[in-house]
Amino acid sequence: MRVAALMLLNIALVEGKRVRLRLAPEPLDIHGRIVARVLVVPENGNAAEETDACAVLVKEGLAKALGLGMAQEEYQEMKALENEAKAAKAGIWGLENANTAPKPYCAADKTKIYHRSTCAVARHIAPANLHQYDTAEEAEAVGLKPCGKCLPK
Ligand SMILES: [Zn+2]
Repeated sequence: MRVAALMLLNIALVEGKRVRLRLAPEPLDIHGRIVARVLVVPENGNAAEETDACAVLVKEGLAKALGLGMAQEEYQEMKALENEAKAAKAGIWGLENANTAPKPYCAADKTKIYHRSTCAVARHIAPANLHQYDTAEEAEAVGLKPCGKCLPK
């Protein structure tokens, strides 16, 4: 859903429109990628009315602020927009567990076995069926037995 929302907004922002790229002070990042702000030019060509597509995506919670190659003050502006989006739980920031690491143990819904989260079996559990535990004891407390392959205990 996040990708779909991002694509729809991105398309609405720029498709069929004239854009201007404002290159960053260091226009190539350490990976050789071009760093630039994408500015959507209005029909009347008035530069004062350009829309900063990058800022819109960050503000809507559909992109993260990354500082590679950007001027420090521009990065701070983007970070402020990102913090607004986080506070409003907009876009990716509203997704459950969006900002949390997976717990070390897990089990699939309606099974009696728990795994280490790194287990090959565990990686095939669909997110909707996934139950996670901080400790092996926590998993066993709900009646689960350890997996014979990843030996979580
Ligand atoms: Zn396992």
